Amino acid sequence: MELTIDIRIQKTKQSKIQEVDFDQLEFGKYISDHMLVCDFANGEWQSPQIVPYADLSLSPAALALHYGQTVFEGMKAFRMTDGSINIFRMDKHYERFVRSLERMCMTIIPKEIFIEGMLQLIELDKAWVPSQPGTALYIRPFMIATEARFGVKISEEYRFIILTGPVPSLYANPIKVKVETEYVRAARGGTGFAKCGGNYGASFYPTKLAKEEGYDQVLWTDAKEHRYIEESGMMNVMFVINDTLLTAPLSDSILDGVTRDSLLTISRDLGYKTVERPVSVDELEAAFKNGTITEAFGAGTAAVIAPIKSIHIAGSDYQLPGYSSESLSAKIKLQLESIRAGEEDDIHGWNFILDVK
Ligand SMILES: *Cc1c(COP(=O)(O)O)cnc(C)c1O
Repeated sequence: MELTIDIRIQKTKQSKIQEVDFDQLEFGKYISDHMLVCDFANGEWQSPQIVPYADLSLSPAALALHYGQTVFEGMKAFRMTDGSINIFRMDKHYERFVRSLERMCMTIIPKEIFIEGMLQLIELDKAWVPSQPGTALYIRPFMIATEARFGVKISEEYRFIILTGPVPSLYANPIKVKVETEYVRAARGGTGFAKCGGNYGASFYPTKLAKEEGYDQVLWTDAKEHRYIEESGMMNVMFVINDTLLTAPLSDSILDGVTRDSLLTISRDLGYKTVERPVSVDELEAAFKNGTITEAFGAGTAAVIAPIKSIHIAGSDYQLPGYSSESLSAKIKLQLESIRAGEEDDIHGWNFILDVK
């Protein structure tokens, strides 16, 4: 790809890569040597820079710290079978970032800074992209309001940053979840579709209560009636009922997951019945009672799929059958991983390949 912007690169004098144990990665433990930083000030985006990863200098009055103008993305780059690096669905992540920024009244980062900045950063830190099966370079673009003011206002200054770091293959142990009928993650008209910081802070307390009751996560329901299933923790949620893959349709209270979209697309490609429509708690309960539900799982970038082993509905813990390589979710996941690794044709143009062999 031709680069159209000039990015100043200041390389680290002391790489920390030798401190990384690539055989024992932990999610979020290691951050690569460099970060991309770009400031918005005086009404315009300044030149992006790639600098050694380091603490920020920020006013304690920075608006992000008080009023929550902060938005992030979470995406991955994979080492392909032939050694090149694949940044997965970069455009779709950029588009979602823009929607999140718009909702939070934050200045839109130009696409070329997001994309070319990310490419150059990954190229520079390519040694940090792990190659063990299932591992990836996690990429965290984010933006914060940096204007220093007491008053509640829309910030006029922002900082855009991209961090990266190697993460392990997350084989998620099947989880126990409970249908949440008191607290809500997102209401219609709210910010549920945006990856903004406040959504996560607000979800900690109900999740903590669920954990105290012995569950791993909550199944969020709609804010109005607690009648329809929306998401599972910080993932989208899908069910297989009567051999049909089901998930809630997108709305402003559902995060438009890139994994969700990829799994639905692959499921259709492979010829499985795939439907986006509201799934009610009553329907789930009935499907457990008549044995038509065979799978339930969370879908997100971190684990791709997180199988669910039981769901608490109105006083009962309903068990799901065990998850195996024959599960529909396992087959779609395998196909997704094969596309990302370059072993299956990338018919939807999801891979952006950095040739760094
Ligand atoms: C990020 C996120 C997801 C999953 O999105 P992916 O793009 O698949 O990682 C789902 N729900 C919530 C609330 C999220 O924040």
